[in-house]
Amino acid sequence: MHDKVDVLIIGSGASGAAVAWSLADTKMRILCLEQGDWVKPTDYPSNGRDWEARLFSDFAINPNRRARPTDYPINDANSPIKVVNFNGVGGSTIMYTAHFPRLHPSDFKVRTLDGVADDWPIDYATLEPFFAENDRMMGVSGLSGDPAYPPKTPPMPPLPLGKSGARFGKAMNELGWHWWPSDTTVATTDYEGRARCINLGHCTPGCAQGAKSSADITYWPHAIRAGVELRTRSRVREITVGPNGLATGAIVTRLRIAPFIVTLGSMSILRGTAKGLANEQKIDVDPRGLDALLAPTAPVLAPPIEAEELTVRGERRGTRAALLSCAMPFSQLDGPSVSVPIGLREGLPVGLQVIGRPHAEGTVLRVAAAAEGTAGGEAIDRP
Ligand SMILES: Cc1cc2nc3c(=O)[nH]c(=O)nc-3n(C[C@H](O)[C@H](O)[C@H](O)COP(=O)(O)OP(=O)(O)OC[C@H]3O[C@@H](n4cnc5c(N)ncnc54)[C@H](O)[C@@H]3O)c2cc1C
Repeated sequence: MHDKVDVLIIGSGASGAAVAWSLADTKMRILCLEQGDWVKPTDYPSNGRDWEARLFSDFAINPNRRARPTDYPINDANSPIKVVNFNGVGGSTIMYTAHFPRLHPSDFKVRTLDGVADDWPIDYATLEPFFAENDRMMGVSGLSGDPAYPPKTPPMPPLPLGKSGARFGKAMNELGWHWWPSDTTVATTDYEGRARCINLGHCTPGCAQGAKSSADITYWPHAIRAGVELRTRSRVREITVGPNGLATGAIVTRLRIAPFIVTLGSMSILRGTAKGLANEQKIDVDPRGLDALLAPTAPVLAPPIEAEELTVRGERRGTRAALLSCAMPFSQLDGPSVSVPIGLREGLPVGLQVIGRPHAEGTVLRVAAAAEGTAGGEAIDRP
């Protein structure tokens, strides 16, 4: 596809979002290519009791560990610094910790004042209106009056210090050190359609409440309303350059959008509990990274109605317990599951279970509808 645009932005993170919004009223044709997806607030770990475990899987700060299809591996073997980021609309602001200090005026003059690095060619006063605009767009909470800065008024009052903050403050007072509660982008009042913080969980892996501001819920809605186009799952693999050495465009790889489905042929997998499932040797992927998991509904074909016992894998078991053994573990999970008849065997339906991620009822129903009856056999009548 050869689209012509006036402005091409690669990446929809903190900087891409702000640039898109700030150029939007020029009415130029602005396109932002983002390799990741929109993140739904309902997907954030703070919605579930497994939020700590998810910091080590689909919401890890390290892309190598997170390994979503929208991530890319980074070789940090010889680096003392391990990369942390997030690839999706809002970029790393999805995972940042909402600490939002401005540079100090002295930071612009480190060569003059401290004899290190270089002085900036601009100063704090030049940037001050942009700091203020960014504070307003992102929604900053803070305490006015910090003598280390020229006067500034954050749009929202500060977060409470908490026990550890008060303890640090006391310690620094004893040492005679200057300290001040830092500005944050955690809303302390309802702000621009976002609800204030209710301590829903750790801020880093995303805020389902929307109290932690991230570029997807601050800059992007305004930019898109003003006409900027944002294309997700579009990974730029090359920036093309003209004979004059200037960029002329980008070559994009569209990441797969179709649902990724794994069929588990082995029934032994179903013996695990929900927790054991991720650890089962037969699965080499974390099921939470999938759109849907397909599994048998029952370990055997439908038994005679009067049967009180069944043989499953050579073991005699009560009929009810045996029949429920495949579906029961999945009904304990946070996400939805549904069983549909995929065909008939000896006149009786054979079930397939479709298991989805939390709140993904729509996906589960769509996959189930597509799977229903696919194994053929006699016609299946809906009850
Ligand atoms: C865990 C964590 C905590 C942090 N805490 C703080 C904090 O408290 N305070 C603070 O000020 N900062 C913090 N940061 C840093 C802050 O989030 C980043 O500095 C900021 O987001 C960088 O903005 P950016 O636009 O340069 O990149 P990002 O926000 O990372 O956005 C880059 C975007 O570009 C996309 N992209 C990259 N390559 C391609 C490609 N080839 N094609 C298409 N799209 C592409 C990515 O998917 C991503 O969405 C934190 C970051 C992390 C990860």
